[in-house]
Amino acid sequence: ATASGHPPREVATHCPYCALQCGMTLRDQDGRVSVLPRQFPTNRGGLCQKGWTSAELLTHPDRLTTPLLRDPASGELRPAGWEAALDRIATGIGEVQRRHGRDAVAVFGGGGLTNEKAYALGKFARVTLGTRNIDYNGRFCMSSAAAAGMRAFGVDRGLPFPLSDLGHADTLVLVGANPAETMPPLVRWLTELRQRGGRLIVVDPRVTATARQADLHLQPLPGTDLAVANALLHIALTEGYVDDDYVATRTTGFTDVRRTVAGWWPARAEALSGVPVADLEATARALGTAKRAIILTARGAEQHAKGVDTVTAFVNLALALGLPGRPGSGYGCLTGQGNGQGGREHGQKADQLPGYRRIDDPAARAHVAQVWGVSADDLPGPGVPAYQLLDSLGTSDGPRALLVFGSNPVVSAPRAARIESRLRELDLLVVTDLLLSETAALADVVLPTAQWAEEDGTMTNLEGRVLRRRALRPPPPGVRTDLAILATLTTRLKGRAPSYRLAQSRGPLLTADSDAEAAADSEREARAADPRTVFAELRRASAGGIADYAGIGWDRIDAADGVFWPCPREDGPDSPRLFADGFPTPDGRARFHPVEHRPAAEEVCAEYPLHFTTGRVLAQYQSGTQTRRVAALRQAAPDAFVELHPDLAGRLGVADGEPVRVLSRRGEFRAPARLSPAIRPDTVFAPFHWGGAARANSVTNDAVDPISGMPEFKICAVRVERVAS
Ligand code: SF4
Repeated sequence: ATASGHPPREVATHCPYCALQCGMTLRDQDGRVSVLPRQFPTNRGGLCQKGWTSAELLTHPDRLTTPLLRDPASGELRPAGWEAALDRIATGIGEVQRRHGRDAVAVFGGGGLTNEKAYALGKFARVTLGTRNIDYNGRFCMSSAAAAGMRAFGVDRGLPFPLSDLGHADTLVLVGANPAETMPPLVRWLTELRQRGGRLIVVDPRVTATARQADLHLQPLPGTDLAVANALLHIALTEGYVDDDYVATRTTGFTDVRRTVAGWWPARAEALSGVPVADLEATARALGTAKRAIILTARGAEQHAKGVDTVTAFVNLALALGLPGRPGSGYGCLTGQGNGQGGREHGQKADQLPGYRRIDDPAARAHVAQVWGVSADDLPGPGVPAYQLLDSLGTSDGPRALLVFGSNPVVSAPRAARIESRLRELDLLVVTDLLLSETAALADVVLPTAQWAEEDGTMTNLEGRVLRRRALRPPPPGVRTDLAILATLTTRLKGRAPSYRLAQSRGPLLTADSDAEAAADSEREARAADPRTVFAELRRASAGGIADYAGIGWDRIDAADGVFWPCPREDGPDSPRLFADGFPTPDGRARFHPVEHRPAAEEVCAEYPLHFTTGRVLAQYQSGTQTRRVAALRQAAPDAFVELHPDLAGRLGVADGEPVRVLSRRGEFRAPARLSPAIRPDTVFAPFHWGGAARANSVTNDAVDPISGMPEFKICAVRVERVAS
C-alpha cells in the first residue's frame, strides 16, 4: 500500500518512443509514476535510458495544460480557454476554405500517433475538411523502405518475421542501422547471434556503437550503399551463391538485374565506395554460405534521393540468395518511430486510405467510403508528399492553413529554415502537442494533448505486431486527447459530430438532419473520441486491404503478446511470418528491379568540400521536444555536436570542444566539434535532435526520392569553419 493507504495502480503498456515498443509496467503511487521493465518478446525486460525516464514528462513543469492563442496585439502566445481556441480554429479554417477552397487547409501527422489517431486524422482530413492535403513525418523516416517493399513483395511490413529470428541467424547484415544507440534492447539479439557463432556485418560510414560489435564493418562513402549492394550481388553470382531454383520459381525480373550487376565488379565498387574488395567478398561469402541469413536496412540506406533504389538493391540481393520466406532468413527494415509501421497503414499518407489502400484505386475508395458513410465521389484524391506539402505552405498555390499533430518539422524537416519561413507565411497554424515544440512556438493556436500514459490505443511495432497502449490515469485538467480534439473540431466545422460506428455503416455521414440524430450528437462525439470505437471502425476499413486488421480485437491483443497483421478473421491465425508460401503480388512472385548507382543530389566541390550526414544519439529521440527536457537524458546528451575526424580537424585548426560552423548552400548551424576517428576524414556528422542555432537540418538537402518523397538527409556538401572567438 502507498502512503495514502491506497494500493499502487499498475498497467502493462509500452514505451512511448521508438518502434521497438519495449514492454514496460507503469506504476502510479500517490501520483508519482515509475517505470518498471516488463518481459515482452522484443525487449525481454530490457529498456534503454529513454524508456526508463519516460514518465518524467507526465508531471514536467514545461507541460502544456491549457490552450495557447497568439495575441494579435503583442504577437505573444497567451493562455486561453478551449472554447476560444476552438472558435479561433473553426473560424480560421472556415475563412481559408471559403476564400481558397478545401485544399487550402492541410494536415500534418506523425509516426508516433496511435493507430486510432492516424486513422481518425486521415478521416478528419478527407471527410471533415474535404482536403487532399494530408501527409506525415514518417515520410522522412522509412518511406523509402516502404516503397521498395511494396514494389518487390507487394507488401510493406518492416520485419516480415519476428524480431527473435535475429538471434538465430548465422549471418546478419545491418545497413545504415545503429540499434546500439537507437534501440539498445535489440542488441541482445545481436549478442546472442555472435555467441552462437553467427556473424554480424555492419555497413555504415561511421564506426558506430553497433559497428564496434561487428565481426566486419564496411565503411562506405555516404551515398554509395547501392553500389556496394550491386557488387555483393555480382560476387554472389560469380561465386555461385545465387539460389537458382528460388529465383526461377518464386521471383520475376532477375534477368535485368543480372545484367545490371554484371557491371559492378568489386574493384569498381571499391573505387567508388572505399570498401575494400576483400571485405565485399567476405560479406558476400558470409551471406551466401549461411544456412540462415538476414539483411536489414534502416535510415542510412533510406534517407537518400535514391533511397528506394538503394533499399531495392539490398532486396535484390536477398531475393537472389533466396532469403525472403525461408525460415530464419529474410530481408527487413528497422522502422524508427514508435508507430512508424501502423502510422503508415491507416490513411495519414497523402496517397493512401486505411488498410494500406491506394487512394486512387476506385475499389478502395468505394470500400472506405462505405465504411465512412460518404460517397466515394466526395473523397478527395491523392495529395503530395510531406516535403512538397511543407514547401508549398503559404505560397500562391499552396495551403494557407496547417494543422500539425505529433510532429515538429521546424527541427526535423530538411532545409529547415525554409520550412520555418513557410510556416510563418500561413494564415493559420494549429499545433497539438504536450510541450511547446519549436513548431508550436510559431503557431496561432496550440492545443495541449494527452500523453501516452493517459490514453488507450494501439501501436504496431517494427514487426507488424499490433500492441495495446494502456492508460494509467486520465489526462490532467485542461488537457484533451487528440481523438477528442478531432471529434470536437468536426462538430464545430460541420455542425455535427463525426460518425464512428461499431457496426455496418447506416447511410450518409454529416447530412442526416433528424431531431433524433441531432439529439445524439454529443453521444456521437463521445464515440468518436473513444479509441476502442475508432479501432472497431479501423478494423472494418482495413478489411481486405494489405494491412488487414479485421480479426484483431483489443481482447485478442490483451490475451497474447500482440497480434501480427494481416489477420483477416477473428477465428483465424495472425501472421508472424510472411512469404513462406508466396508473395502478395498478382502472380505470387516477388519482383526484382534493376537499380543503378547515381551520385548524390549534391556533390562536394571546392566551396563545400565535405560530405555531411545526420543521425541519432542514444539519449535523445527525434526532434528532441520530449527528451531534451528529461533531466537524465539532458545530462547524458546535453548539446549538439559536430563529429570530425582528427585529421580533418587538424587541417581546419579546430580543437576538440571548440565551436564550429557548418555551412551548406542552404544555411548553417553551430555546435562544438567532437573529434573522433570513428568517422571518415572526408565526412562530417551531426545529430539532428536540436533546434535553434544548433539545428543540423538547417544545412540538409531537400532533394527527394522521386518514388517515396524521402528527403536526402544522409548526404549533402558542406564546409566547416572555426567560429572566431
Ligand atoms: Fe523505448 Fe525504444 Fe528505448 Fe525500447 S529501445 S525503451 S522502445 S526508446
